[in-house]
Amino acid sequence: MFLSVFDIFKIGVGPSSSHTMGPMTAAARFLDDLRTGRTPIPGSGAPAHVQCTLHGSLAFTGKGHSTDRAVILGLCGFEPATIDPDDAEKALAEVATTRTVQPEGLHPLKFNPDEDLIFDYGPPLDGHANGMVLRAFDAAGALRLEETYFSIGGGFILTADELAELDRTPAGLKTAKKEAGYRYPFSTAKEMLALGVKHGKTIAQMKRANEQAHIDPAQLDERLNEVWNTMSACIDRGLREEGILPGGLNVRRRAKKIYERLVEQRGSNMAQPHVANDWMSVYAMAVNEENAAGGKVVTSPTNGAAGVVPAVMRYYRDHCIGSNDEGLRTFLLTAAAIGGLIKHNASISGAEVGCQGEVGSAAAMAAAGLCAALGGSNEQIENAAEIALEHHLGMSCDPVAGLVQVPCIERNGLGAIKAVSAASLALHGDGEHFMPLDNCIEAMRQTGQDMSEKYKETSLGGLAVNLPEC
Ligand code: SF4
Repeated sequence: MFLSVFDIFKIGVGPSSSHTMGPMTAAARFLDDLRTGRTPIPGSGAPAHVQCTLHGSLAFTGKGHSTDRAVILGLCGFEPATIDPDDAEKALAEVATTRTVQPEGLHPLKFNPDEDLIFDYGPPLDGHANGMVLRAFDAAGALRLEETYFSIGGGFILTADELAELDRTPAGLKTAKKEAGYRYPFSTAKEMLALGVKHGKTIAQMKRANEQAHIDPAQLDERLNEVWNTMSACIDRGLREEGILPGGLNVRRRAKKIYERLVEQRGSNMAQPHVANDWMSVYAMAVNEENAAGGKVVTSPTNGAAGVVPAVMRYYRDHCIGSNDEGLRTFLLTAAAIGGLIKHNASISGAEVGCQGEVGSAAAMAAAGLCAALGGSNEQIENAAEIALEHHLGMSCDPVAGLVQVPCIERNGLGAIKAVSAASLALHGDGEHFMPLDNCIEAMRQTGQDMSEKYKETSLGGLAVNLPEC
């Protein structure tokens, strides 16, 4: 199993990795197929018209998660990592007026958002809860190209064929193929710990060596710094901004006010001991308010859970004695190793396993990262991740009105607090513990499998249907 640290931590835009970044990437990929002339349906002419149908969770919570905007922007040629928000707004306004998209390298394509972006509220497509179908037609209306994509969480996209191939490939072969060329291949926490013992390496050192199969050491450090700088800038922006978040729920941004109060009370006898929790919460809330506003964030491992890892990293940098830049890089590498294990063996998608897979995974990653940055052993790191994940098991995904706001914004703050407590508890022990991380990940997978669809990012149950009378 190899998932790069840059697959886990992707720079992109809010509010959702699976519902915003994934669909935008899928639309951009469909354009590539049209451009490179992937064998079109025989007898069809040049593409003149495109259509997109959203299925399952993408349909149910797509409007709240800005999936509609993401698809339009993807069809205009935007990609999550490089999008400029001002250019994006202009492009959306132009499509609304011209009912046409004009991607580079293709003739203008008819696309009326009111008719050509279809929300299918029927059963989800076979394969995954987040499905979408893109179709291109020629000027006479004949189908030229059709592709089904699945947004499998964390901004990852697979076509229907790729998903089927993954399902068909026996686990051993799949693992063997993916591990070729990596110095420290592991697909379970048990294997990871055994390799650490055998080679006398930390998790971060093994992860770094595996990454270096693709990238030279200086570049790796540069990109890790860029990930952290983007996270940190997102916190700073979130701490500056005020006002009502978009979407119609009238949720007010709170991070700025809380932050100002914390700064005012710093060092005074007004500050209570639990104020450390407030710092972690405010950093996480700043990120998730930015995410809800469609700002630039880093998936960690998803957008909905994008606040936990940056909050704990900022806590490490600004509140822990002896923090340094190398510690931040160790944090990211270790957190990515844990995120990779969870994604490989269970899921990081709220639509597949509920919020335990998003905020739960983020907390496990952050706990492991902090434990490593503070000098924990591999066994303590595995323990920290397990504690954090264990105490998120069963948590459902029930965002009100399909918006990544309630409960998501506060939930990231609480996830960060649990992560720091988990790291601290693990550091008090010697790494010996009852429940292995692998078993906890499997418990999460099984719990997610048994969870009703109502609690898996459809907004059909839980908090989403228990709203206060206004
Ligand atoms: S409830 Fe959790 S999984 Fe669902 S959208 Fe919010 S953060 Fe993501």
